[in-house]
Amino acid sequence: MPDTPAAADRKPLSEELCFCGSGRKLKHCHKSASADSRAVHVHNLYREVDGAIEEYRSHSPKQPPCREGCSACCSDYFPVSQVEFELLLVYMERHWSQGEIREAFERAEEDLEILRRENPPLHDSLTHGADRGGELDALRRHAGRNGFPCPLLDPGTGRCRVYAARPFICRTHGSSHTFYGTWRERLQPERICEYIDGGRAHRKITPNVADFWPRYDELTDVRVGAKRRPLRQYPIFYWLVLYGRHGSGHTARLGSRDNFDLPLAEHNARMAAHESARAK
Ligand code: SF4
Ligand code: SF4
Ligand SMILES: [Zn+2]
Repeated sequence: MPDTPAAADRKPLSEELCFCGSGRKLKHCHKSASADSRAVHVHNLYREVDGAIEEYRSHSPKQPPCREGCSACCSDYFPVSQVEFELLLVYMERHWSQGEIREAFERAEEDLEILRRENPPLHDSLTHGADRGGELDALRRHAGRNGFPCPLLDPGTGRCRVYAARPFICRTHGSSHTFYGTWRERLQPERICEYIDGGRAHRKITPNVADFWPRYDELTDVRVGAKRRPLRQYPIFYWLVLYGRHGSGHTARLGSRDNFDLPLAEHNARMAAHESARAK
């Protein structure tokens, strides 16, 4: 993995810039947030993986054609975690108008209807309460390119309107690869997108971010001791549908701020207890 700052060299997390993109330090901006929260750790992971990709790009002669305005992959079907989605809402609340936010929620409702028409099995797995295992199975079998782009994309310019807060997969797709060295991975024939061949060709022009993924999983699932409880993830448009229908309507306001205000271990313990109580 390319150089990232050693833990001892890093500033305390409260000294880092706030996750909302205000340009202010966390301790002066979102003051109720814990510097040890899931959201702050995810935000920090974003910066580290960006740094690794940037470092590679600064010296590699061959690079993928990803660039501003290239947005074909923003129509792919891919899930993101809840904390990443909430980081998007916090960013939108600070940088978008109420009208723009409302429009994104409305677009998401339309997107769900398009998915229902064009990909019924995937639509059903999304809306019929599959667990994480069921979700991954549906992804393997039915996910591909949607007939609509991410509702956070500016369709006119092809620019991401939440670029600074975009999820982990949006930072790494195309611009990096994940390779643990198994024979199965060596034979990968797939393409990354219509402009990039996959497998070995892609590994030659991008950095390997395999070391980041276990940390991503650790932060986006619930961990208590050695136990890991995988949490369901959804595509961005469906998170918007869920929060629009069951949260604060077509606004970016958060009902619960636990992903931001609680230290990670406390939040994990609370979620695990909640799940156990529901299972009884
Ligand atoms: S992954 Fe492909 S579609 Fe996406 S930005 Fe890169 S080149 Fe463009
Ligand atoms: S968040 Fe941004 S980069 Fe990610 S899919 Fe949406 S528009 Fe594309
Ligand atoms: Zn802030």
